[in-house]
Amino acid sequence: SNDMINRRNIQWFPGHMMKTLRLMEANIKNVDAVLQLLDARIPMSSLNPEIQRITEQKPRLYVMNKADLADPALTNAWVKYFRASGAGCVAISAKQKGSAAQVRTAIEKELEDLIARRAIKGMGGARIRVMVVGIPNVGKSTFINNFAGQVRAKAADRPGVTRGKQWVTVGNYDLLDMPGVLWKKFDSLETATNLAFIGSIKDDILDIEELAMGLLSQMQKIYPEKLAERYKLSEEQLQLGPWELLEAIGRKRGMLISGGEVNTERAAIMLVDEFRASKWGRITLEKPYQMEQTQEQEVQE
Ligand code: GDP
Repeated sequence: SNDMINRRNIQWFPGHMMKTLRLMEANIKNVDAVLQLLDARIPMSSLNPEIQRITEQKPRLYVMNKADLADPALTNAWVKYFRASGAGCVAISAKQKGSAAQVRTAIEKELEDLIARRAIKGMGGARIRVMVVGIPNVGKSTFINNFAGQVRAKAADRPGVTRGKQWVTVGNYDLLDMPGVLWKKFDSLETATNLAFIGSIKDDILDIEELAMGLLSQMQKIYPEKLAERYKLSEEQLQLGPWELLEAIGRKRGMLISGGEVNTERAAIMLVDEFRASKWGRITLEKPYQMEQTQEQEVQE
């Protein structure tokens, strides 16, 4: 639905995000590579086109974070997809210990040539400077803390927490930690809703019932079995329209108001929370373009 994001109140691109983009532009010349964190559940929607534009000239590494929440087969497909595009790519869970080492290896592979050139020039000890970027809530603080091996930046569970840029020195690395940033105008409503599903757009500008219904209809399409299992839905219930399904799930959970009506707002909040907490299982909402094409072909043949 077009009402999910309240168009009269689009204030999710506040001034500090504009400032961050300018900061990136000003600092891009000071780094050897750019590491863009993506959310493994929505790799394409979490890829910021503004960041893409600013960092075009630099070696790139995509780090798909929150892989523990995503569908493993699709995560593999996405890693292949990004590597085929000529960029480095690894999938990690920033909360898990080994993830920093994985990323280090990937950076060194991506910068192989540069490191070799520096060694020849006797500059083998030069520090590797990496700009770390990503949308709000993608897990950037968690990742940097893990990489640094100690608590540096405060991980916050809500998007839009403002922080300035800062250099974080770890071993022979200098990480330039940029604040999380979205972009001005979404090219598609699907991108916007995907970002809302994972909590990168502040919930207070969203209609929570629309959001929950959007999630339900996505799930009905791509993971009906997971939805049925979580909420003990029958075949018939799985075919319901999103509003009726929201009501049915609310009723099952006993979320009623006077007169026996379902408290759909409470049901919606519960659904979105449970999705974000991965209670529905490991889910990826987007497939690489080629994969969708192939599947369509298969259906046609
Ligand atoms: P930032 O806004 O990009 O700095 O994101 P944070 O590091 O503050 O993380 C946002 C939320 O995602 C926090 O609740 C983190 O605990 C959580 N988070 C970060 N990385 C992961 C991960 O790999 N897996 C899971 N399940 N949660 C993560």
